[in-house]
Amino acid sequence: AKRSGRNIFRFFAADMNLIAKRKILIISRLRQALERDAFYLLYQPQIDLQSGKVVAVEALIRWQDEELGNISPTEFIPLAEENGLIILIGEWVLREACTQLKIWQTHYAEPIKVSVNMSAMQLKQENFAEKVEYILRKTGLAARFLELELTETAIMNDPNHAIKTLTQLKALGVTLALDDFGTGYSSLNCLQKLSLDKLKIDKSFLDNIHQKAEDVTIVRATVILAQSLSIEVTAEGVESLPQLEILRQFPCQYVQGFYFSKPILPGEVLKLLQSEHRFT
Ligand code: C2E
Ligand code: CA
Ligand code: CA
Ligand code: CA
Repeated sequence: AKRSGRNIFRFFAADMNLIAKRKILIISRLRQALERDAFYLLYQPQIDLQSGKVVAVEALIRWQDEELGNISPTEFIPLAEENGLIILIGEWVLREACTQLKIWQTHYAEPIKVSVNMSAMQLKQENFAEKVEYILRKTGLAARFLELELTETAIMNDPNHAIKTLTQLKALGVTLALDDFGTGYSSLNCLQKLSLDKLKIDKSFLDNIHQKAEDVTIVRATVILAQSLSIEVTAEGVESLPQLEILRQFPCQYVQGFYFSKPILPGEVLKLLQSEHRFT
């Protein structure tokens, strides 16, 4: 028993070593990724259920590394947060997304928004709102076309600073969405105080909504309460028609998910917009 225990330990240690090695490798490659132009953005459409039209796209970062191949943001974003690289990466994402929307606007007249994910560390910066203002000015994008997605943990880290920064951002004219809603602790009451415009109900509440009555109850209550507080709602991660049909009954205003579209390249977004496709 002792021996096999030791083997298990060795196996575990080797495993840990592998994980640590990959982490170090990723971080060292990550440092050069911006200079190497190794990041790009995909955009996932958000649909207004009433009109069936695309009203916004969420920018989602991708990293194609020469040595490591494609690395998911779920793997590298937490590492970038750990070592502070997320600040520069986040600024790159913001500038790229605003520039891209400006380009779409020259080819497509209807107003759509671009929605950009902000990490907790970005929000923590003293001059975050100024940085956003600067990027808007540099890219020439009107603030009303930009939505920032924040998480509850980012806000609750330092609520006083968050309130100050969110107020400054609102004053610029950008809109604010709370990402992954339901996975943290904040109440809707608290959201209204933070002048949030939208909440995105986390995919985990949608996954079994067509099979689980409790999940229907939770999502319905969230939608109704948010609406009564004049907060918009997006349901995230909608993958099937049965899920969609339940959301229609509430009704939920905005939806996003593979059922409608995966994250796609800028050219594909433009084609979709210009086709005036209506999702039904
Ligand atoms: P998120 O902000 O919650 O983004 C939604 C994620 O769910 C995306 O994964 C998207 O591709 C995926 N998704 C959307 N619809 C569906 C669906 O119907 N089914 C399934 N199974 N998945 C769906 P992605 O692109 O891998 O991003 C993962 C996370 O990485 C994001 O979660 C976000 O937290 C982070 N992330 C991505 N891009 C950025 C960025 O530019 N900055 C920061 N700070 N974080 C980012
Ligand atoms: Ca998001
Ligand atoms: Ca989310
Ligand atoms: Ca998420």
